[in-house]
Amino acid sequence: MLIDAHVHLDKYGDLLDEALRQIDTERIFTVATAMDVPSYLELQKIAERSELVLPTFGIHPRRAAEYANRLPEISRYIEMSPAIGEIGLDFHWVKDTGTYPAQRKVLEYFIAAAGEQNKFVNLHTKAGEKEILDLLEKYNVRRAIIHWYSGPLDILQAMIDFGCYFTIGVEVQYSNYIKEIAKRIPDHLLLTETDNPGALKWLKKNDKIGMPMAIQDVVEMLSRLRQSTSERIGQLIHENFTRLLANDPWLRGVGDILSRPRW
Ligand SMILES: [Zn+2]
Repeated sequence: MLIDAHVHLDKYGDLLDEALRQIDTERIFTVATAMDVPSYLELQKIAERSELVLPTFGIHPRRAAEYANRLPEISRYIEMSPAIGEIGLDFHWVKDTGTYPAQRKVLEYFIAAAGEQNKFVNLHTKAGEKEILDLLEKYNVRRAIIHWYSGPLDILQAMIDFGCYFTIGVEVQYSNYIKEIAKRIPDHLLLTETDNPGALKWLKKNDKIGMPMAIQDVVEMLSRLRQSTSERIGQLIHENFTRLLANDPWLRGVGDILSRPRW
């Protein structure tokens, strides 16, 4: 089974049926990350249509300012969600520095909750890499997926030493820096994502909506970078994701799905 550990399934619009069809026929286990409360409610509905879709609640750094004063209100969604994400910091693409204190406040609230509730987190770290690692250490959140890492190499190494997992996505096909990062991630911490539907469009590689099957291109590129085969990389990612979820009190059913012999 392939693993797409960071996707915005609620953004597929008219193509949602096709996206779910690909997820089921290609057997792609999908972590469907939310941007905010409405996004999470939508993902919960979508997840009823496929057992391979895991909806997770988070507030994206772009949306943090709207929620910074509503934290008690969102705590029930945090409790409801089996894992946390997308959360994080963005001090690069988000230009309005006035939102930075709100981003920090919301992120720390989520990480503290993830620590208390023993849930894995899915993190956006753009230009906030060091602060995020400090928070993971502070709250002893050991199960973290760092999504689309593109930051400094010394912090990458510190995150690796801490035991963070990393999702490599579609940019690995185009960027030498992302290729370098992908090579530095040790085998046991490597995961894959598409961040679709918008990732390819965002990279200005084409105008197309990115579909779930794009995960196969990521696996293929990783196999070339690591002088391996797609089959072996696919198996490695599956093992890593299974290990990340092992003994997770919120995700026992997922372990069963992942361990089915056919995949
Ligand atoms: Zn994302």
